Amino acid sequence: IKNIAVLTSGGDAPGMNAAIRAVVRAGIYHGLNVFGVKRGYDGLVKGDIVPMDAKSVANIIQRGGTILKTARSEEFKTYEGRKQAYENIKRFGIDALVVIGGDGTFTGASKFIEEFDVPIIGLPGTIDNDLAGTDFTIGYDTAINTVVDAVDKIRDTAESHDRLFVIEVMGRDSGLIAIRSGISTGAEAVLIPELEVDYNAIMKRLDQTRKNKSSRIIIVAEGDDEGGLVVADKIKENFPHYDVRVSILGHIQRGGKPTCMDRVLASRLGVAAVEGLLAGRKGEMAGLICGDVQFTPFGKAIKHIDKINTNLTRIVEILSL
Ligand code: ATP
Repeated sequence: IKNIAVLTSGGDAPGMNAAIRAVVRAGIYHGLNVFGVKRGYDGLVKGDIVPMDAKSVANIIQRGGTILKTARSEEFKTYEGRKQAYENIKRFGIDALVVIGGDGTFTGASKFIEEFDVPIIGLPGTIDNDLAGTDFTIGYDTAINTVVDAVDKIRDTAESHDRLFVIEVMGRDSGLIAIRSGISTGAEAVLIPELEVDYNAIMKRLDQTRKNKSSRIIIVAEGDDEGGLVVADKIKENFPHYDVRVSILGHIQRGGKPTCMDRVLASRLGVAAVEGLLAGRKGEMAGLICGDVQFTPFGKAIKHIDKINTNLTRIVEILSL
């Protein structure tokens, strides 16, 4: 392997820049030429590929988003599109790829390897933390800290006005953003797609806490069957005396400076991806499990596993008395 390329794909996540920097610098450290592909697989299909050097990734470790930009490419989902992508990487002399993204990105990478035998290593870049093969994904820590910061602020107004706030957070069909931010903001309830919503239990808990609390926070994961607005309507129906407000945090959760933990994770995994390729690895995602870098085949990394630990859901219940 002499020439490698790096791309970011799917939804952006804080720490992607730190990962790009790590791939570029580790590649150079090991004597490789490194290219950057613009807008994920779209840039691969269109040949939007630029050489990167150590300086091109200077001063980006602290920046959110991705300097390479990201996109969703419909063309790459077709064989013709992937063939075009293969022709482009051959044209640039690229021998291997590092792709930073989520499950869709790894599904596309698997097909590309199968059809054209290009070595690819993936890095988990998504705020949702919904991949197997890593305890945490790049961007998750930053996103939950953003949520915690926002919920703390909402708690101030909820407390001052004796209000109940239903706060919808991101995570698609994963409740991992909801559960950890719920625990750390002292939410009275957390509704996640992995668990059936037990309204009776929630109402009971709200009832029990009514006397000694003036504010209440209910965190709802966006992938929950019932989004924040529906949950708020149900609460209004059952507790008409509550002053209920809804806040949908939205895209602020995807932006911002990556936390120290995300920068370190991205840096470690970026180096691991390059060294994995040099060691002959392909079709695997580099992740961190119990503090150690481990490689997991794409097929296993994208298999939706239930990373919600029931110990976490119990904590909410025990501590929201
Ligand atoms: P996030 O978790 O942030 O959404 P993701 O990687 O899952 O990230 P997707 O938009 O699902 O994001 O996938 C990124 C890109 O991967 C798609 O735009 C597409 O080009 C490619 N891709 C996804 N699924 C497939 C597939 N079945 N076959 C080929 N390519 C795919």
